[in-house]
Amino acid sequence: MGGKRRIVITIEAHRLTIVRARRPVEMWCERCGKDVPILTPEAAAALAGVSPRAIYRRVESGELHIIETGTKALLICSGSF
Ligand SMILES: [Zn+2]
Repeated sequence: MGGKRRIVITIEAHRLTIVRARRPVEMWCERCGKDVPILTPEAAAALAGVSPRAIYRRVESGELHIIETGTKALLICSGSF
């Protein structure tokens, strides 16, 4: 009984992930001067095959654009990636 319930939850979580991936969030990047798909530092690190720490270094050096969100979350401009 318990096993069946767990399978349903897993499928639902998987479906939500796909929905999110199909609609990349776009935000205004001041340095690009246009709306750009944004990445979290973790997603950027996974794409580049490096550690999130390496991504933060590239942000600090100004190589990667960051998007100001007004929250603590740091978002990266995919146009600079
Ligand atoms: Zn940018």
